Amino acid sequence: MRQTASSVEPGREAESKTAPGPLLLLGAPGVGKGTQAKELVKLWGIPQISTGDLLRANVAQGTPLGKTAKEIIGRGELVPDEMVNEMVALRLLEPDTVRGYILDGFPRTLGQADWLDARLAAQPESLPVVAVMIRVNYNQLLRRITGRRNCPVCQRIYNIHVNPPQRDGICDLDGAALIQRADDTEEIFKERMRAYEAQTAPVVEHYRGKGRFAEVDGDRPIDVIAAGIVATVEGMRKA
Ligand code: AMP
Repeated sequence: MRQTASSVEPGREAESKTAPGPLLLLGAPGVGKGTQAKELVKLWGIPQISTGDLLRANVAQGTPLGKTAKEIIGRGELVPDEMVNEMVALRLLEPDTVRGYILDGFPRTLGQADWLDARLAAQPESLPVVAVMIRVNYNQLLRRITGRRNCPVCQRIYNIHVNPPQRDGICDLDGAALIQRADDTEEIFKERMRAYEAQTAPVVEHYRGKGRFAEVDGDRPIDVIAAGIVATVEGMRKA
């Protein structure tokens, strides 16, 4: 396992250090939230709980929840709080959540945040949620997204600014012509950012108001960001 710049020793963390508790990871499209969630899962030995993934699994399995959620998700709307909360409640009963978990895509509304806070407060053994936002400068994000090119054959991802192929527009590995995903344009990026900010702002304010919100700089190497998140969470837990 990779060593990070922090004092964290991967693998041992799970046994010896204080439990990280519930962490809500926030970040705009393209900041590398998924990558960081994976790093933290490895470092802390705790699960990632993504309500989008759980909902998709329910849809795939054809559960009653999945049947109702399918159309709502298809319309790009939010699934009602009570349904998502109940799904999360069930997931939190699993023993792998005892030391903590990384929340991804939940809470997404104030109703969900209040429900989770109340639930955790009612359990003396549970720590409260801390929220960490991975922040990347807008123009930097735009460059990352609009510069992205994918190989349709081997799926390798390039970036014409920071990680270009050797020959313009051609995959190094198999010579296929690289493509740009239809939603990796500036216009769609702006739209996704607007939607993200509108949706996330109330949740950010909720945790900021409770003194359980922090930001980390996402424009650094992957392991440095992960170490920054670990240090930030530890700092908030001690405060
Ligand atoms: P995601 O993979 O997080 O983008 O979620 C995909 C879709 O699942 C969203 O567009 C919503 O329809 C639904 N969804 C995921 N998480 C939530 C949530 N916390 N509250 C309501 N709907 C959600």
